[in-house]
Amino acid sequence: MIKSAGIHHITAIAGEPKRHVAFYARTLALRFVKRTVNFDDPGSWHLYYGYEVGTPGTALTFCIWNRLPKGRHGAGESQQVAFAIPESSLDYWIKRLDRLGIAHGAPAKRFGETAVALQDPDGLKLELVAATGADAIPGWSNGDVPAEHAIRGFHGITLEVRDPAPTARVLAEVFGFKPAGTEYNRHRFLAEGSELARAIDLRITPGLGRHAQGLGTNHHVAFRAGNDAEEMEMRRRALALGLSATEQVSRNYFRSVYFREPGGILFEIATDDPGFTLDEPKEKLGSKLMLPPWYEPDRAKIEASLPALE
Ligand code: ZN
Repeated sequence: MIKSAGIHHITAIAGEPKRHVAFYARTLALRFVKRTVNFDDPGSWHLYYGYEVGTPGTALTFCIWNRLPKGRHGAGESQQVAFAIPESSLDYWIKRLDRLGIAHGAPAKRFGETAVALQDPDGLKLELVAATGADAIPGWSNGDVPAEHAIRGFHGITLEVRDPAPTARVLAEVFGFKPAGTEYNRHRFLAEGSELARAIDLRITPGLGRHAQGLGTNHHVAFRAGNDAEEMEMRRRALALGLSATEQVSRNYFRSVYFREPGGILFEIATDDPGFTLDEPKEKLGSKLMLPPWYEPDRAKIEASLPALE
């Protein structure tokens, strides 16, 4: 039996790179843990933000595809990325957003915790959740936000679906998530093997149109596998549900299998190892363009084609 460890990383799509980097690295003060290229499209950036070393459960990654049109939020979308902050940091963050002129929603109670909704510069939906237990995780500061108030990683993500049952079955049977109650139009599922990055909400909004991928939308959600054997077991379970899963592919920092769940959302299974310190020491993470060995011979050409980030 696999004990679910929750979310590994979330990948979304962003446009104008300087505005994007300023928002995540400065406003939200996430650590820039890796700057690399999209392994399927080496002419574009793939940027990774995380907490400290980008431990699984903290890595939000972006494909920078400035020429894409803006996406449309809707059903069949992994929609709202929730970050965990300590409960005592909620006032700090509301004041910080106000001071920086960033629009946000009113604090709202959900499953006993308080959430504040906001959007990134491309319109990606985000939330800060004052999460039980977040203060037990030591803070990390890049200088913009004091360590005590820093985002500690993901709280979870909301998946907008038309029919929750088939997606719920995948969460339970492939990844071992457990149902944790319903509030209004939200069904919550929790991973039991970790403290954070463990809440998946299935939200049903009647009458909502189908989502269209583009700037400001998520691309996929990746779930953690402890090792190759666990990954292959999850893959076998997805196939047993009639889903079509890829073979394992190397993403350099983890090994991945992809499949589309019945609601239309792209899921990934990603191994915890080897992680982002594979090719850079901890203190240097995110400081320069890193390429996988197979693109290293094209470095000069790739560097010349990438837009400036700062
Ligand atoms: Zn991924």
